[in-house]
Amino acid sequence: MGSRVHPEYGESASLVVDGTIRIAEDGAPVLVGTECTNCHYVGFPPTSFCRRCLSENVTSVDLSREGELRTYTIVRTGQEGFEAPYACGYVSLPEGVRLYSLLTGWESGGLEVGTSVRLILDKITVDSESNEPLFGHCFRLGAGDADD
Ligand SMILES: [Zn+2]
Repeated sequence: MGSRVHPEYGESASLVVDGTIRIAEDGAPVLVGTECTNCHYVGFPPTSFCRRCLSENVTSVDLSREGELRTYTIVRTGQEGFEAPYACGYVSLPEGVRLYSLLTGWESGGLEVGTSVRLILDKITVDSESNEPLFGHCFRLGAGDADD
């Protein structure tokens, strides 16, 4: 913990998972995975070997910021540190990576599988000991409606 993140997220902010997110030159977050130079499998989170062929010839690769919602659930009884209700689900990225994520931009009702989503860095929870905010990857629903 204690890694530096974009100033917008506060000097003392920490990432929930270190080493999987970097802030690009444009200030936006990027998830970092690994790509196998042998079979071109792309995995996330990064590993020192290929999950498909077990080759150790892997390199860091930036993953796409935009993906597609594959499945989701609305959590109505949140675990400690999470304010329910909230949405979470699996997002597919063009590289073939599928990852679990909290979803922002949900207010009520159901969601639609296939909805475009865009990566953001958001406050996930608060450190139970230090009470400092913890940031991590999150996907915002409706990438097409983005304000940029
Ligand atoms: Zn491989």
